[in-house]
Amino acid sequence: MSSARIPLVAGNWKMNFDHLEATYFVQKLAWLLRDAHFDYKQVEVALMPTFTSIRSVQVLVEADKLRINYGAQSVSVTNQGAFTGDVSADMLAHLGCTYVIVGHSERRKYHPEDDANIVDQVRAVLTAGMQPILCVGESMEERRKGIQLDFAVGQVHDVTRDLSDEEAEKLIIAYEPVWAIGTGLVATPDTAQEAANAVRSDLRQTFGAKVADKVRILYGGSVSSKNAVELIGQPDVDGFLIGGASLKVDELAKICRLTLKTVTSRR
Ligand code: PEP
Repeated sequence: MSSARIPLVAGNWKMNFDHLEATYFVQKLAWLLRDAHFDYKQVEVALMPTFTSIRSVQVLVEADKLRINYGAQSVSVTNQGAFTGDVSADMLAHLGCTYVIVGHSERRKYHPEDDANIVDQVRAVLTAGMQPILCVGESMEERRKGIQLDFAVGQVHDVTRDLSDEEAEKLIIAYEPVWAIGTGLVATPDTAQEAANAVRSDLRQTFGAKVADKVRILYGGSVSSKNAVELIGQPDVDGFLIGGASLKVDELAKICRLTLKTVTSRR
């Protein structure tokens, strides 16, 4: 974490919670953080519900003027038309989404989302005025071969090579080694830092220091309140993308509080 970037704690709910459960969760998270005098200016909090819950979350956030941001977990690459089951970036932007997760390993695995499609999703999200949270990261096989950094940086590069400086600085990159997602096998702080630093160095080479220093790089993969402090203490780790632990409201609130405490104690 660097003082130049506001850390982001983002929950990826995947296919969990209907709209009533989502509303209840957001309300409770807001209460827990309010009771803790949480300072949203120093640490940003965001949730990524399913498509069916986004409208309910929007209504609650707007009615109660909550400081919690929200977004979606994927997006169509086209804007409208005969694409059954798809949801466009404009539709998400009109629901007040700030972020869209792009290229999550589960999307890459279970859906036909190849590199070209991911580039198009990033472009669609940016065009609609939102920010993509681009997920990259190696499998255990790539790690065993020792090519993990080249792999993650290559995934970033595939997307960034066609972006302008203005577009690139809106990217959020989540380094999520596939072997750490949902497994309880968390990357060590050094491993997370090494990958985040490699990604930032590549951004620096492509776009220069001004852009590279702005882009937030998150770590994702079995984050919990037990490992969050050490991870956020790394200079290039600017927050978290959290799956399992983001489904437990007390645990997520704790991660938010620990992140804030670590950030403020180091500023
Ligand atoms: C994720 O799915 O983005 C993720 C990081 O999951 P988990 O925290 O459960 O490993």
